Amino acid sequence: MVRAVLPAALVRGLPEDRDAERCDPEELREKLRRHLVELHVASWYDATLRKPCHSGRAERRAGGPACPIRHNSQMRQSRLFGRTLRDAPADAQTPGHQLMLRAAIARPLASGLYTWLPLGFRVAKKVEQIIREEMDRIGCQEIEMPVLTPAEYWRETGRWDLLEPITFRTRDHNGREFMLSYTHEELVTHHARNEILSYRQLPVMVYHFQSKGRDEARPRAGLLRAREFVMKDAYSFDADQAGLERSYALQYDAYTRIFRRLGLDAVSVESDTGAMGGDVAHEFQVLIDAGEDSILICESCDYRANQERAERRLPDAPAATDVPPAEEVATPSVTSIEALGTFFDAPANAFLKTLLLRAGDEVVAVILPGDREASHAKLRKLLGVMELTFAGDADFVRAGGVAGYVGPRGLHARVVVDTSVERRGYIAGANKRDIHVKNILPGRDFPDAERVDVHDVVAGDACPRDGGRLVLRRGVEVGNIFAFGTYYSAKMAGATFLAEDGTRKPFVGGSYGIGIGRSVQTIIETHHDDKGIVWPFQVAPYEVHVVALPVNDESVCRTAETLVAALEGNGIEVLYDDREDSAGVKFADADLIGIPFRVTVSRRSLQNQAIELKSRAGSELELVPSDIAAERITDVVRRARSAAP
Ligand SMILES: [Zn+2]
Repeated sequence: MVRAVLPAALVRGLPEDRDAERCDPEELREKLRRHLVELHVASWYDATLRKPCHSGRAERRAGGPACPIRHNSQMRQSRLFGRTLRDAPADAQTPGHQLMLRAAIARPLASGLYTWLPLGFRVAKKVEQIIREEMDRIGCQEIEMPVLTPAEYWRETGRWDLLEPITFRTRDHNGREFMLSYTHEELVTHHARNEILSYRQLPVMVYHFQSKGRDEARPRAGLLRAREFVMKDAYSFDADQAGLERSYALQYDAYTRIFRRLGLDAVSVESDTGAMGGDVAHEFQVLIDAGEDSILICESCDYRANQERAERRLPDAPAATDVPPAEEVATPSVTSIEALGTFFDAPANAFLKTLLLRAGDEVVAVILPGDREASHAKLRKLLGVMELTFAGDADFVRAGGVAGYVGPRGLHARVVVDTSVERRGYIAGANKRDIHVKNILPGRDFPDAERVDVHDVVAGDACPRDGGRLVLRRGVEVGNIFAFGTYYSAKMAGATFLAEDGTRKPFVGGSYGIGIGRSVQTIIETHHDDKGIVWPFQVAPYEVHVVALPVNDESVCRTAETLVAALEGNGIEVLYDDREDSAGVKFADADLIGIPFRVTVSRRSLQNQAIELKSRAGSELELVPSDIAAERITDVVRRARSAAP
């Protein structure tokens, strides 16, 4: 058994021990150790066997110290691939974007495409491992689906066409079409219809880590909006709605734990389901100014929603009773709401604005009060499109609208009236050049049967639940969960199981995503000071940063290297700064890279038989006697590990 983990070269010459199976393992280890001392490899043995690395669990994919050879391959900063930068490139947009580049976490390859450098790779893999542990904990099983996904599955649900504007496509040499994975609902549902035959196999949850492609028109802020990125997606399959709700709740709780462990203060907000289908969805948002999402939060209850789907309590406006007949008014060259306000001496909400959009072959007129903006997300959802298309000249002619003077009366189009349009008289375009109409009344002068909430809710609006004041915050969406029900299974042939009552029923599903790179950068956005990154312990690229000063001093070098070897032997992850740089450069880099503990071995401290220990987050220096330094630092790191969430 012990033999099995030793390289053949070391096992050769091991004293025969036919009784090994019956030996006390401790006794056998001691015997083996004595032999290894003779072979001058006892320290290797100590490092790998007696003190098994702590992070076998944490580093499966990180290539971390789970491998015995890695334990002794010190990470010397002089060999580190990736150099720190004194200044951030001018186009780095957020604090996290700047620090990610300066600290050599990741590098751009092209717009929206990033390479993890070694330090960032380690962080990303630790983030993945935390997610993996929490997925495993709720019984979600890890799989891996390809990046290239065949068109036929997407065609089954209609998303091949729907997703066209935002996805990368390719063909093989036979002309077969593929999409670079956008998400994997269709693909995992395809597997489920082959693997799951009966209700007895439900519920099932699976997840994978995989690269996604989004043909973003505007990648921004480094990893916050990239064009290729790894996500963890999980998918649940249940027999009914109640089962889906249980799976959704399990994922919701797992997400809460994951973000706490990542050091991210993420709040759940109600979100739009967009291209994912279904009605119930939450995003996990970290509320920081660097975020590009707009989140409305009630000051008096726990209502939180992405602006894309936020609602508001409408003022209680009684329907007007005696609105005079509609009347045309000459308004030469007066077209904007602002100009109309001056012309009529009336506030913006005295007017109606009419948007003409194209949805497939249909022209859709959207009517809003003059003081409200249309929500593009709500309109996309209403029209079932990924991108809005505004009506062209031909559509105006077809609908009978006149640009600048378009109004709801007499339009040949599907008319959608926003819920904030009240039942009173308004002023609107007359669909005639240089003419508006006043006293135009919804329902009387134009159809208002199709009432839909398509306006942007803004700061100061009333909470839909309790009427409290809504405030607007910026947020980064680090995760999302969707309960889409039968959205996919109902469209995909044979995506059914044999139910308990003997009938065939479609799977009831949900999907659950977390962006890895975006999470890493959001950690940086929220964990830094003016000198650099301050990693939460559990995701830091290394645990201890040993700095030798100066490295060409023999005693300093010997002490530092012995210490590094001892720490690594104790299973501690160490970055060793062995570069021949000045103290200023080395300390600045240590602060920039942000490893939780900095250990300085310097000529000056060694004169007092001590080394310096400092935490990145704190300011005090601790002088540790050099003869017990390895034990003391190991103890500090182990305490930090157990204190980590
Ligand atoms: Zn509220």
